[in-house]
Amino acid sequence: MPGACLPGSGSDKPVQSFNVKTFHIAVLPGDGIGGEVVAEAVKVLRAVEPLMPGVLFELTEHSVGAAEYLKNGDPLPEAAFEACRIADAVLLGAMGLPSVRWPDGKELTPQIDLRERLDLYCGLRPIRLYHAAHCPLKNYGAGEIDFVIFRENCEGLFSSRLAPREPGADEARDTLLITRRGAERICHAAFREALKRRRKVTLVDKANVLPSMVFFRAVFDAVAAQYPTVETERVYVDAMALYLVQRPHTFDVIVTENMFGDILSDLAAGLIGGMGMAPSADIGDTCAVFQPSHGTAPDIAGKGIANPIATILSLALMLDWLDHPETKDAAKRISGAVEAVLADPANRTRDLGGTLSTTQMGDLVAAKCKSVNH
Ligand code: ATP
Repeated sequence: MPGACLPGSGSDKPVQSFNVKTFHIAVLPGDGIGGEVVAEAVKVLRAVEPLMPGVLFELTEHSVGAAEYLKNGDPLPEAAFEACRIADAVLLGAMGLPSVRWPDGKELTPQIDLRERLDLYCGLRPIRLYHAAHCPLKNYGAGEIDFVIFRENCEGLFSSRLAPREPGADEARDTLLITRRGAERICHAAFREALKRRRKVTLVDKANVLPSMVFFRAVFDAVAAQYPTVETERVYVDAMALYLVQRPHTFDVIVTENMFGDILSDLAAGLIGGMGMAPSADIGDTCAVFQPSHGTAPDIAGKGIANPIATILSLALMLDWLDHPETKDAAKRISGAVEAVLADPANRTRDLGGTLSTTQMGDLVAAKCKSVNH
């Protein structure tokens, strides 16, 4: 349904006056559970919309991903890309399916194409524990694991993924690219965030082995010198896998290259209940895409059991990023509603050991948004 306008925008609003701000949101449900979880985020957006009298949302849905590729040969049609480029923000489910591949055998990864083409260099992955029962570690209660990963999104070990390969060659190489500009901007983003939080940044690298990582650390050190009130820590990526399990409460902001960030953010999601609990945002200087950290989860797609919390929290990140006083307030309201809903152990989807369906969880959060103190 390319470019279809979703119903319900501004449903409870008076006729738009000159001081009402309209945000245009491109909605990309994608494949697998993408559509199921995005529907719940849209439900929550519609629930908070009447509480933002100065704001309207115009949502336009676009078909992207593996199903679109099978239909039309392109997982990210140009019209959908252009809609994302000019939108105020993009809300994305998940794209790609293991069974649908390019002729060379690689999976379709239009979400990475979107990041790179829109220069969404800052991969923001907040990790927060909402209930002790979601954590596989002992002795951690709600809020006691609370950090954010800043993953460099446009270079690192993913940088040569589209390089031509010689068929039949006896070796294959991938380049880990770190540029000064790329490293500086992700480090600055991490330090700016730390100033709003607990003022600590942990660099994760492999500077004991790789020259690219020595360079990344040198850039980090130069940026760190500009933020004298922020404590810093430098950890090798292998040790970080250990420390995330042993002492996750000691981290505040973590900054790292693309591939390390990809891997560590799945590990980190495991600390707070799994992929269904981990939101994310891919942010550039002018555009941003908000999506759960998880993929299309083909193993549970179509069963109505996916946890929509990661996508709902990604919606909250979007509302915060839109930077309007009312959307920022709505973002807090949604996070507060998620916290309040998950405080009751009866409110759990299957991945968290409960029985709620995707839509039941979405209904609970949407209803709670109207009453929560935030
Ligand atoms: P990708 O490489 O596309 O990011 P992935 O390999 O990380 O994907 P996911 O699709 O994220 O894989 O799924 C990993 C596991 O997490 C699967 O067992 C899946 O069922 C589970 N999972 C992912 N998202 C959810 C969700 N929203 N609710 C419940 N379980 C989920």
